[in-house]
Amino acid sequence: MILETFPVGLLQCNCTLLGDEATGEAMVIDPGDNVPYILDRLKAHGLTLKQIVVTHAHIDHVGGAVRLKRATGAPILLNENDLPLLKMMDVQAAWLGTAAPEVAPPDENAREGLVVGISTHKAEVLHTPGHTQGSICLHFVPEKILFAGDTLFAGSIGRTDLPGGDGRQILRSIHERLMSLADETRVIPGHGAETTIGEEREGNPWLQNRL
Ligand SMILES: [Zn+2]
Repeated sequence: MILETFPVGLLQCNCTLLGDEATGEAMVIDPGDNVPYILDRLKAHGLTLKQIVVTHAHIDHVGGAVRLKRATGAPILLNENDLPLLKMMDVQAAWLGTAAPEVAPPDENAREGLVVGISTHKAEVLHTPGHTQGSICLHFVPEKILFAGDTLFAGSIGRTDLPGGDGRQILRSIHERLMSLADETRVIPGHGAETTIGEEREGNPWLQNRL
């Protein structure tokens, strides 16, 4: 398995390229920006992009998705509960003082339970609302890897003060859907350092008091 995670854009969103040397297939998670670099990495590994999965419709995660789709033909998957956020991309761009990227409705709804990924590495979509209403995590079960978007970070959790955010809901999502995973599960969050479910269960200050 090829697994590369690198920060992209102004807010340093973690973008991940996940591929398979044998089949030449790849998926990209959260292509927020730096599309030329993502295309370079795909080319360097000789991979064909099969799928673009976006954990939620904040500009720093979804901003490059349409450009990447146009360059590769790969479909975009996003949870439909984030369509209102996608529609307010100009407002999101104004928060950052940047130009709004082109956006388009997803090709498929990344709904709860959907299986995404490439033929040799598949993940289950966990709908984990709270940071946004359409926030999802991707759980690669045999690989024991969770892509947590902006729901869970090393030592922190996603902010809930933006439109669509809900502080009680994000804690419920984390406790019910993520803390039920095995301690050794690697967590690759939407920003910052990698962690594990066990480390967060033990030490994340936001998770110590149950609602
Ligand atoms: Zn976000």
